[in-house]
Amino acid sequence: MKPFTDILQNKEFTREELVKLLSAGDEERRQLFVQAQLVKSETVGNKVYLRGLIEFSNKCGKDCLYCGIRKNNNKVVRYELTDQEILEACRFAWLNRFGSVVLQSGEISSPTFVKRIDLLLQKIKELSNGELGITLSCGEQSAETYQQWRQSGTHRYLLRIESSNPELYRKIHPDNDFHSYERRIQAIRDLKECGYQVGTGVMIGLPFQTVYDLADDLLFFKAIEVDMVGMGPYIEHEDTPLYEFREMIKTKQERFDLALKMVATLRLLMPDINIAAATALQAIDPAGREKALTIGANIIMPNLTPCEYRKEYQLYEDKPCLDEDAEMCRNCLEARIELAGCEIGYSEWGDSKHFKRRQ
Ligand code: SAM
Ligand code: SF4
Repeated sequence: MKPFTDILQNKEFTREELVKLLSAGDEERRQLFVQAQLVKSETVGNKVYLRGLIEFSNKCGKDCLYCGIRKNNNKVVRYELTDQEILEACRFAWLNRFGSVVLQSGEISSPTFVKRIDLLLQKIKELSNGELGITLSCGEQSAETYQQWRQSGTHRYLLRIESSNPELYRKIHPDNDFHSYERRIQAIRDLKECGYQVGTGVMIGLPFQTVYDLADDLLFFKAIEVDMVGMGPYIEHEDTPLYEFREMIKTKQERFDLALKMVATLRLLMPDINIAAATALQAIDPAGREKALTIGANIIMPNLTPCEYRKEYQLYEDKPCLDEDAEMCRNCLEARIELAGCEIGYSEWGDSKHFKRRQ
């Protein structure tokens, strides 16, 4: 195999080469990060785009084995923001020149839910004179629903594959058609066909996951020509079935380090996509998201969910910013982004360059 420094100059990567990058020791890791930062500044530039995250409901029909808000976790108090609360959060984002919002929730597919989102999309466009970009992250829906929401004003959708290895996917989800790998893949295909900029991603450091799985995840992103990726460390939650396997997972610091290497390696593999600095990084290291920005990521999602609801959207333990309101979050984030040597793309959608090229 080529020496490490030669692999860093590649345009295409084999599975073994990706594994080598992901297994980099201290000095090689430093070289990987320097190269990823260089590729980032030459392709997507130094700007970071803001997506105000509104976790508008924790009601979910699914039971993913890793997730703190899964249907069968009876300790969670279920909530749904009112239309007014959602619109106020969007207005905050617009007035503070965030450029875009992400509306995220558990997975509900009832006609009432679908219709409600549809009307909300139209109202958000109205209140911002069409200026706020809208990303949705509401799980698997029918192709018709995706189509309808696309027409009502959303143009980006996030749906993580969680793991591209079908066997591992089955281990971290209940064994039924509702949670099937095939259904997930079909949903990602449907989103692409409806003309969305599609974001996907995985959790890093899952029980049973190997570095080969992670290399395959990167190749999966490339094969499906994804436009955006959001991936972060898996973090255990004691009220979930996967907690049983906590002894077999890497330490939090190891998961964090691996997540940064995944971001940097992906930047080399897919230079012009958008890569988010995942919130889960911050749950392990307070400066985790900023560290990701300096080695390849270019998107950040400040939390705009009203504080009183945040403790009920605990996907994993130690989720950050539980009691900081949107204004405080904004102030501290701006300073941190500047410290990371990046510039904020105020009022810009910051669409994926890869998507534009694909068009
Ligand atoms: N329900 C939608 C879905 O599943 O696509 C959107 C919301 S879901 C909470 C968003 C993401 O949270 C999931 O795609 C998953 O990767 C992440 N997540 C859930 N539990 C997690 C955990 N224990 N550690 C890290 N990330 C987690
Ligand atoms: Fe529901 Fe999404 Fe959590 Fe799965 S990951 S249980 S679909 S909120």
